[in-house]
Amino acid sequence: MSPGVRRRVISALVVAVTCPVSAPAQAPLTAADSAILASQPLKRLRLAPSLLRRVSLLAGGLDREVVLCLQGTAAGDSALVVDFVMPDLVSSTADQVQPLPCGQGTLAVWHNHPWTGPDSSFGVKTPEDLCSLSEPDVRTVVADSIPFAVVSVGRTPHAIVCWWRRVQVVVNRHVKFLPRFPRQWLELP
Ligand SMILES: [Zn+2]
Repeated sequence: MSPGVRRRVISALVVAVTCPVSAPAQAPLTAADSAILASQPLKRLRLAPSLLRRVSLLAGGLDREVVLCLQGTAAGDSALVVDFVMPDLVSSTADQVQPLPCGQGTLAVWHNHPWTGPDSSFGVKTPEDLCSLSEPDVRTVVADSIPFAVVSVGRTPHAIVCWWRRVQVVVNRHVKFLPRFPRQWLELP
């Protein structure tokens, strides 16, 4: 590699290393993590406009958590979800939900977080702060093998939706809660 190329590579590495500083502390990748990364190539999630409208409408009116299994198609590294089925729920309250597993072909698991106001014990000041995965959410996503997790914050003046790749959750599985990633917000078609 020429010195010029080497310099560019090094500066790219520095950028790659310094950018995630503001993100929650990430554990180093283990061999198992790398295997999961390699086996789950899907990187982008798109919610069809009609699906986004429906889940936002539901989240807006629900005062307890529910789960939906989002279905659609995958091509290359992108998944497009267009519809959902609702799994049976073992329990559902204002701040937790326990579903039966989603069926095969599920690309993303959605659940809602009803906004009930700021909660200083969890550092939640705004509805946007509630667009995060709780410790039990993280455990559920890691135990499952579905490529994406989606959260809608409901009972808010406007719809808030965010999502994570499962591999991001696996890598961050030791955090107390996983905030949304600024560059991994909803992507519309
Ligand atoms: Zn949750």
